[in-house]
Amino acid sequence: GHHSIGADVAIIGAGPAGLFAAFECSMLRLSCVLVDSLGETGGQCAALYPEKPIYDIPAHPAIEGGALVAALEAQIAPFSVPRLLGRRVERLEGQAGDFTLGTDRGDVIRAKAVVIAAGAGAFGPNRPPLDGLDAFEATGSVQYYVRRREDFRGRRIVIAGGGDSAVDWALSLKDIAERIWLVHRRDRFRAAPESLAQLEAAAAEGRIEKVVPFQLHGLHGTSGTLEAVSVADLDGKVRQIDADRLLPFFGLSTDLGPLAAWPLNAERHHIPVAQATCETAIAGVFAIGDVATYPGKLKLILQGFSEGAMAAHAIHPIVHPDTALHFEYSTSKGVPGGVPGGA
Ligand code: FAD
Repeated sequence: GHHSIGADVAIIGAGPAGLFAAFECSMLRLSCVLVDSLGETGGQCAALYPEKPIYDIPAHPAIEGGALVAALEAQIAPFSVPRLLGRRVERLEGQAGDFTLGTDRGDVIRAKAVVIAAGAGAFGPNRPPLDGLDAFEATGSVQYYVRRREDFRGRRIVIAGGGDSAVDWALSLKDIAERIWLVHRRDRFRAAPESLAQLEAAAAEGRIEKVVPFQLHGLHGTSGTLEAVSVADLDGKVRQIDADRLLPFFGLSTDLGPLAAWPLNAERHHIPVAQATCETAIAGVFAIGDVATYPGKLKLILQGFSEGAMAAHAIHPIVHPDTALHFEYSTSKGVPGGVPGGA
């Protein structure tokens, strides 16, 4: 069903920037709600590289993407920030102090200020246009990310795509899969020279079968359980591959989607902001993290954290126009004591 919810601040996107902005807002006693089109929080860290270490988070010599998200969640846990997941924000109406946001699922969010932490947009994998795809996705027969290599042990896997991801995952999974077919609509793959050399070696040994130039044509099986993938060449000749997993790597759509229609003066998927506040061209609407741009912008997680703090401080006078914010360090306040109704 759909929700109707009100908060001081609506945060669009629950990647690392959005999660930390929720902390900064909460510390200033601004209530917030997190909205994300994905079914879980963590943005790129959770969806794309939960097991990859990150080396440039301050005070963490190394931390995996998934662990960073868990730590950010632990940091906001005392504030019980409500969240609407699996919902994409599409519409914005009103002005600073009184915004109304609408989602693709019919939710209505009222907020005094908005923080756009949309990263590369409501991202998702580019999905192949195949009949019945939904059912095969639902069972995990078709997947767009390798979250755990072990899930692919003993599988007969069709990997589709011609770039780094397709080649690298074919090489990575060849040691645990029963068979791998690498389907690409051109003869040549675009990947690092070392990866291409390894691919040729694996193909020569029969560990990976290159199926080129072919493209995906159809999925076969019942109740979403994949039994075969058919592929077609440029002349329309169809070949059937008996496989039980399909991994299409056709890139991520980095599209602001509905946000591109908002009057934010977005340039090539990025929203220009005032560097001192992260405020956008719309008063009361702020942008932080990968989606925000200004001279000297670094697309790094640590940058998104600091932008979240700046936006929260800039939002305070919008929510509380009559109350000056007396800046305090978090140590002088203490997190649980800072929560309304807390200890
Ligand atoms: P994202 O993490 O992209 O999160 C944005 C969220 O907003 C998404 O969950 C999306 O679904 C949601 N969203 C977008 N539009 C809407 C909408 N309309 N409605 C609802 N939800 C919406 N950075 C580093 O600092 N160090 C590293 O070592 C590092 N390694 C990386 C390795 C890889 C493989 C990749 C892909 C990136 C790496 N990065 C690294 C970059 C880092 O992940 C990003 O800088 C960071 O994720 C940006 O955070 P964000 O919160 O701005 O956006």
